[in-house]
Amino acid sequence: MSAPELFDTHAHLHFPEFTRDLADVLARARAAGVSRMVTIGTDVATSQAAIELAGREADVWAAVGIHPHDAAEADDAAFAEIARLAREPRVVAVGEIGLDFFRNLSPREAQERVFRRLLALGREVGKPVLIHCREAHEDVLRLLGEGRVGEIGGIMHCFSGDAAIARRCLDLGLLISLAGPVTYPNARTLPDVARLVPADRLVIETDCPFLPPQGHRGQRNEPAYLALTAARVAELRGEALELLAARLSDNARRLFKIP
Ligand SMILES: [Zn+2]
Ligand SMILES: [Zn+2]
Repeated sequence: MSAPELFDTHAHLHFPEFTRDLADVLARARAAGVSRMVTIGTDVATSQAAIELAGREADVWAAVGIHPHDAAEADDAAFAEIARLAREPRVVAVGEIGLDFFRNLSPREAQERVFRRLLALGREVGKPVLIHCREAHEDVLRLLGEGRVGEIGGIMHCFSGDAAIARRCLDLGLLISLAGPVTYPNARTLPDVARLVPADRLVIETDCPFLPPQGHRGQRNEPAYLALTAARVAELRGEALELLAARLSDNARRLFKIP
């Protein structure tokens, strides 16, 4: 039996954790059936690095953005550079962007300012947005509504809310992305979310090198482990893995306009 076709919608392959053995990491991803990956920038330097990697690897695309953790440092020069990078042909989305009131590494006003501005950039360049949200669902949903995110589409990445929040994200027109935590035995709300999202609105991701699935906790995460998350989601939904994986890949390709 061949491996199911998988699309890792959120990875940070250009991060220093992968410098030493990226070729091996990509080889294991391909062997595990991961045929497409998006590598995600979190500031100007990592957004540039994401595009460079996407230029070298035919099955890797890039997203450019400023993470809420890095919002305090974002000046006009940074916005101008992200706006220029967002128009590059290998860039399929603006992100990651959003709000993180869990770690609060940047002041809330700075986070909100950057989020609004890059949400507007997504609309300007006609590319979907990749949303990071931790302990900030009310504010994120309000800003996404004000920014008319439904017109450009986007992904609520590494979804961490409950069923009610998932329904509100769906109402806004977003896709929902499940990551490694859905595989954890103590996951409380994520199994419900995995079951309730319609098959045409769900995607999966690793968020590697972070958040490894069960069986690899405490280690560096990598795209090959996406197969474990896919298998758990298929099990929760009572669907055949190969069929589900193909549908989730189709959802990502449609959003990112990737053939
Ligand atoms: Zn994130
Ligand atoms: Zn991320």
